Amino acid sequence: MQGQPQIVQQTGRHTAEADSMNNKNIKPMNDIGFRKEVTTGSYLDPFDQFKSKEVVIEERYDETTGVASRILPYRTRALQKPDLNIYLKKSPESECPFCSEMFEKSTPRFTAEIIPEGKFKRGEACLFPNAFPYDQSGTVAIFSSRHFVPLDQLTPEYMQNGFAVCIEYFKRIAEIKPESKYCSINWNYMPPSGGGLIHPHLQTITGIHPTSYIQRLLTGARNYSVNSGGGNLWRDLISFEDEAKERFITDTGAVCWLSAFSPKGMAGEIDFIFKGKTSVFDLTETDFSDLLNGLSGVFKYLSHKNFISFNLALYATMINDNDFWVQGKIVPRFEINNLGTSDLNYFEKLHNEIICTVVPEQLCRDIQPYFE
Ligand SMILES: [Zn+2]
Repeated sequence: MQGQPQIVQQTGRHTAEADSMNNKNIKPMNDIGFRKEVTTGSYLDPFDQFKSKEVVIEERYDETTGVASRILPYRTRALQKPDLNIYLKKSPESECPFCSEMFEKSTPRFTAEIIPEGKFKRGEACLFPNAFPYDQSGTVAIFSSRHFVPLDQLTPEYMQNGFAVCIEYFKRIAEIKPESKYCSINWNYMPPSGGGLIHPHLQTITGIHPTSYIQRLLTGARNYSVNSGGGNLWRDLISFEDEAKERFITDTGAVCWLSAFSPKGMAGEIDFIFKGKTSVFDLTETDFSDLLNGLSGVFKYLSHKNFISFNLALYATMINDNDFWVQGKIVPRFEINNLGTSDLNYFEKLHNEIICTVVPEQLCRDIQPYFE
């Protein structure tokens, strides 16, 4: 196939350990650890006089992330834009703890030893403890007092202070809890993604231990380094994708954008990697604007495709680690039909395989114009 990376049967990565991680036993396609296998099924089609119909099932596995997915484009249906007014009616400003009237009364404050003012502030953005945290130091950051901001209005200018206030908080944590080594900035935007409030807000996690997915990425990168004689997974992944020209979306300054080979979402996954940045504290203001410029492009694409919701995570170490470049992912989220059917089902929840109806290589081509 034209433009297809050469299939390598046996590689430095194809070790016993890699095999044990590869629950799929699919042959590796390349040194990066991408695997794929195509099979066909058939049935007698009730919509075509019960003639025999073939369906192509493509199984993918990514050794670096441990993500197994099935690319099933025949399941794609055009998404109808959900009625945003339904959400706005159910979650009015008057009942929102992050809107001006309730904000000071209803949001937690930090103890004085963390910050005497009680909250981290920058411009209109404000970061405070999560009242319902997932870990010891979970926080919430709002970008502004604006209650609802549509996807296509999530501009770099709007997002800038929200991300900056998270970094200020990480700096403070590094001072008072130097044992904290890992951090992430996370975003459930709107209810289909798990967002409990429509007022846009980020959530941070810091910890001595990485979350299990950050651990998976670290293990992938360390195995790669050992098996390739000291290679850096992230550098080699970017250069592999740049050459293959299949999933390499673009560069925005310090940030490289990829469509994930084996996505974590039904509508695909968009990845960003900060080139050569080995700690969250390596990121400059310019690096962040490179990220936010790209993100606003992704959000315009999502809005244009009738999505109203996504999950985002930025993963980083807080102490320089050459095996881990600061990076993140965006996964569009949606309800499948008028019933409100979830885009997660038993296959992802209980079998750890993701049903993806979007071809990652097509997603790459579709989203590229939004970065121009
Ligand atoms: Zn609000």
